[in-house]
Amino acid sequence: MKIAFIGLGNMGGGMAANLVKAGHAVNAFDLSAEASAKAAEHGCAPFGTVSEAVEGVDAVVTMLPNGAIVRAVYTGEVFARAPKGALLLDCSTIDLATAREVVELAHEAGYEMVDAPVSGGIAAANGGTLTFMVGGSEAAFEQARTVLEPMAKAVIHAGETGAGQVAKMCNNMLLAIHMIGTCEALALAEKAGLDPQTFYDISSKATGYCWSLNDYTPMPGVGANSPADNGYAGGFASALMLKDLRLAMAGAEASGAKVPMGEHATRIYEAFVEEGNGGKDFGAIFTTL
Ligand code: NAD
Repeated sequence: MKIAFIGLGNMGGGMAANLVKAGHAVNAFDLSAEASAKAAEHGCAPFGTVSEAVEGVDAVVTMLPNGAIVRAVYTGEVFARAPKGALLLDCSTIDLATAREVVELAHEAGYEMVDAPVSGGIAAANGGTLTFMVGGSEAAFEQARTVLEPMAKAVIHAGETGAGQVAKMCNNMLLAIHMIGTCEALALAEKAGLDPQTFYDISSKATGYCWSLNDYTPMPGVGANSPADNGYAGGFASALMLKDLRLAMAGAEASGAKVPMGEHATRIYEAFVEEGNGGKDFGAIFTTL
């Protein structure tokens, strides 16, 4: 297939490279010349505008920072220049309202489009092991699967338009909550006189088990190897977790859901990021306890 890939940053760069490896011809566009040059090194064909990149393609994939940019890219150039019949896939993590609006505009312009946000960080993007949560019709999902599989460990149909973004925001709100809970439990265990590794050995096999404790232990030298063992460098930045929590809070407000723990987690990450810790892995909340 001929695929346009827009947004070749930390995530998009590796994803586009995996599409090339799978044998697709990939037209690349990014506002950053550096990102475009890197994509070219991985076998993508770099273009100077979105309009040129989407000319004659079978599919358009976007991996962009936020909803306003996603809306601008699609309504500005993609809808005007991509061939009718091209499948549109937005893999960015964006607010639910914009995700639904852009798909509606795509349908009006005569395109099939899915929201297909991902779980997994930069390593999974590079390794082709992302989990995609796809919102859209059954037919659109079947088409999308072919495009997404070379970048994926799993491609899951979440439901109708927007369902991918709902799955993503709920997953990451839950992740923030169990990460903070894990940090608190480890800190409490130590302060109350229990060896934290012994606590890990017990709780990771008891009802306290969860991904944050078992697989991503946020205390240095305890449990699973994680960014905590590397000064909280790399991993999933606290600023990105805060972005996702804010999207979840907006989604909760719009849908009338009560999320008291989600609100609390948002305040905790807000304070942490304001103190200059936005670049640290989200498990670094442990250091505040
Ligand atoms: P990034 O900032 O590294 O990459 C975004 C890229 O988009 C940049 O290269 C930027 O130049 C480009 N861009 C911005 N505006 C543009 C425009 N108008 N046209 C073309 N290119 C434009 O961000 P990232 O970490 O790659 O994240 C991308 C998306 O993936 C975000 O929505 C993020 O929430 C989501 N995500 C990130 C992670 C992660 O661990 N980094 C994990 C899951 C999901």
